[in-house]
Amino acid sequence: MVSKILVVEDEEPIAEVVRSYLEREGFQVAVAADGLAALDQARKLQPDLIILDIMLPGMDGLEVLRRLRQESQVYVLMLTARSEEVDKIVGLSVGADDYVTKPFSPRELVARVKAILRRGRGAESKEQALSFRHVRIDPVRRQAWVNGATVSLTQLEFDLLNALASYPGMVFSRERLLERVWGYDFYGDDRVVDVHIGILRKKLGDDSASPRLIKTVRGVGYKFEDEPV
Ligand code: CA
Repeated sequence: MVSKILVVEDEEPIAEVVRSYLEREGFQVAVAADGLAALDQARKLQPDLIILDIMLPGMDGLEVLRRLRQESQVYVLMLTARSEEVDKIVGLSVGADDYVTKPFSPRELVARVKAILRRGRGAESKEQALSFRHVRIDPVRRQAWVNGATVSLTQLEFDLLNALASYPGMVFSRERLLERVWGYDFYGDDRVVDVHIGILRKKLGDDSASPRLIKTVRGVGYKFEDEPV
């Protein structure tokens, strides 16, 4: 099956370079030049991945993302400028899965897209539900519960929780998580992991000052800890 990618970028030369690189890899690509067109296309096409520029005329990329997240958990890769350090983090906290800083190499962007779309297809992913004292995870329905209540997670947040909880007590380095969850061999930025762990803790109702479910192992990474039942 051909993966569909929506590129949201008003600068035509950039959009067209990205389009041609992605099409060369066999992806089906649609381009939207503003936020409203992006939301419309996202509904119609149901893309497998969205590349979303922050700087757009009218509605900016963050607002597009906020609205998109009300109806879709699709993987979103943000494009940011170097000066948008804060925006990067804001972008992640409103539900972006990762970002690429402009100017970027189209080759690297394509490599990331391929890695993302490959993720979760490995033989390693477990199919049986995971039950703990506080947390329950159903990989088939891609649903998680904390103390019986459904937790609303993006695809990536679910994969992150599932990866950690599949090996309770095992410490994952940030690099390992980038590899397993984001599918990156070497492109990832460690901070993306920290931001997403923070969001996941919040959604799980875990206190980041003294987390009970996802613990930080200083200098190493993260581990999931709950009692299996
Ligand atoms: Ca732009």
